[in-house]
Amino acid sequence: MNVPELFGSMVFNDREMKKRLSPETYKAMKTTVSSGKPISPKLADEIAEAMKLWAIEKGATHYTHWFQPMTGLPAEKHDSFIDPQPGGSVIMTFKGKELIKGEPDASSFPSGGMRETAEARGYTVWDPTSYAFVIGTTLYIPTCFVSFTGEVLDKKTPLLRSMDALSEVATKFARLFGVECERVNCTVGPEQEYFLIDRDLYNARKDLRYTGRTLFGAAPPKGQELEDQYFGAIRSRVMAFMEDVDEQLWKLGVAAKTRHNEVAPCQHELAPVFSSVNVATDHNLLTMEVLKKTAEKHNLACLLHEKPFKGVNGSGKHNNWSISTDTGVNLLNPGKNPADNLLFLATVAAVIKAVHEHSDLLRLSVATAGNDHRLGANEAPPAIISIYLGDQLSAIFDAIESGKKYKAGETGKTAIRVAAVPDFEKDNSDRNRTSPFAFTGNKFEFRALGSALNIGCPNVMINVAVADAMESMIEVLSKATPADFEKTARKLIKDTYSAHKAIVFNGNNYSDEWINVESKKRGLPEIKSTPDALPCYTKPENVALLAHFGVFNERECQARKEILLEQYAKVINIEAYTMYKMTAKMILPACVQFMNALSESVKNKKDLNMTYDYEGSVLYKTGKLVDKAYSQMGALEELRRQAALMTDVEEQTKYLHDAVLAKMEELRESLDSLELLVSSEYWPLPSYGDMLFYVD
Ligand code: ADP
Ligand code: MG
Repeated sequence: MNVPELFGSMVFNDREMKKRLSPETYKAMKTTVSSGKPISPKLADEIAEAMKLWAIEKGATHYTHWFQPMTGLPAEKHDSFIDPQPGGSVIMTFKGKELIKGEPDASSFPSGGMRETAEARGYTVWDPTSYAFVIGTTLYIPTCFVSFTGEVLDKKTPLLRSMDALSEVATKFARLFGVECERVNCTVGPEQEYFLIDRDLYNARKDLRYTGRTLFGAAPPKGQELEDQYFGAIRSRVMAFMEDVDEQLWKLGVAAKTRHNEVAPCQHELAPVFSSVNVATDHNLLTMEVLKKTAEKHNLACLLHEKPFKGVNGSGKHNNWSISTDTGVNLLNPGKNPADNLLFLATVAAVIKAVHEHSDLLRLSVATAGNDHRLGANEAPPAIISIYLGDQLSAIFDAIESGKKYKAGETGKTAIRVAAVPDFEKDNSDRNRTSPFAFTGNKFEFRALGSALNIGCPNVMINVAVADAMESMIEVLSKATPADFEKTARKLIKDTYSAHKAIVFNGNNYSDEWINVESKKRGLPEIKSTPDALPCYTKPENVALLAHFGVFNERECQARKEILLEQYAKVINIEAYTMYKMTAKMILPACVQFMNALSESVKNKKDLNMTYDYEGSVLYKTGKLVDKAYSQMGALEELRRQAALMTDVEEQTKYLHDAVLAKMEELRESLDSLELLVSSEYWPLPSYGDMLFYVD
């Protein structure tokens, strides 16, 4: 495989544009991509024509506006290029206006009451900052999705708005420190975790098919405790899958870089090289699609749910975030001498302030029914947002705060004490795997995202929070004269750190001491569940902040809150109903058959005057548990129906969380105990052991 040749071969990228567009149009496109300047509609016809010719060469017959409605998943509707001509022939056409604007019948996408069905107009609008690409016979054009009145209906538009907002503020910020630039871009590298199991086993589990997770399943004798899966040798079936995934992603210009086994059995990770956050978001969506489709091809199923299996780790998505100028300066690069790198320190101070003041927005941006199973479950960061700075950076800030000069600690070399093995230069901070928001060398890593999440929303919130912090710091800095700028900046960094260091915590975020004592003492909120997190969308200060940066108006905040709460309600409802039906139609009937077999044996043995301890006792226990499960199943269905009648969605989601989910847990306990009693011959579902330790 010639990777450089393959890479981006299905993308209408810079190389293709340079080759196929007039110099004037090419230049205009380039400016749009690099500095966010709008493209003139005049040039759109030429671009559309070139794009079409290229796409046809790649095998395309159709094009689609590819957009990201509030479901978080990409949506597409294909139109062919054909244009019938007199005489019964066709030509292939694609006009500038078709490139720029599309009008899907949008009435069936969630809009949170912003669009009545009667006025269902929604438009998809070309996003020229993310390249078009071909998959199969279709040309995909990344687009924004907005309503007739211009309100956002998608995940991409607010992200682009937040990038513009951050760029405007951060450009001023960087310039104050003497860094020349026209635009500041945030860059993101999302690490994607997933599970891969045998497709036949997946097909045999309705819970996986309907809800993405197992709603019951007793723990197998072996889980992840031997730690033999993490970074372990990759089994050949999985390796063939990974190679296939990489090849397809590379063709689509996704810079897939790292692949490895994760902690839980059957769990893996794929990380790309970072890119501008808009492209990173599109690429992450593509990655998730390619993972799922490729799994099918290999008779595997890729599970992107945050918690497919109880008792082993769930899957997350680490969002590595940084900001760089268009002149190539990463504001979060500490450089050789971080203690004297004022722009770096001020940027870190801005992030500390941002995360402290807006932790509720960060928390809500990762709130989903699936992710609720992870956050705070000793495998993912807790639901309390805090920042990890590491020893060196903390020491620098502590020195600034106390007015002392920072003395660089011993970073130096680490000796392995084996003659043939070279000593090596240590990094300036160790890793901390438990923090939700960790400084990792030249970027911050937001670790609270769930594996299935569209990364748009968390990045919107980080961008807006940091823009807000920088804006208030700019107010102070811009009053300084050149002569006292350094003094003012140092004082500002010190004051900002002092005011917000309560958010900095370098210890173990899983410890009881942190969760129950220290974080409470510092007044950091612990927002435990999605129904508690999402209402923060419409807190007056959050609405004001999001409106100030032009990301959402009040109606849009309200709509988002409602859509996401409704989504939560639907997810729990589906889970509860799936659980009810599987219990009623599969599991309890199977238990009865097993009991029949046991009673038969009891009867026979009685006739023969034999003892029947085993059958008798298992029969008795199974009978008891079946009755218990039967009553819990009925109660669950009753609660689910109650919830469905509720009209206030906030109240409804709280009820689903507190009553319905709790009842599901109770029922699960009975069913998992039953699974341990009932012969595997009768048990109607693949077990955890079958799925997690499948045979190649
Ligand atoms: P980890 O050790 O955390 O598992 P990985 O190498 O798997 O690290 O992932 C780190 C991610 O961070 C990669 O996607 C990488 O491209 C990304 N990254 C590196 N530098 C930056 C940066 N300046 N901005 C954003 N992301 C970055
Ligand atoms: Mg990581």
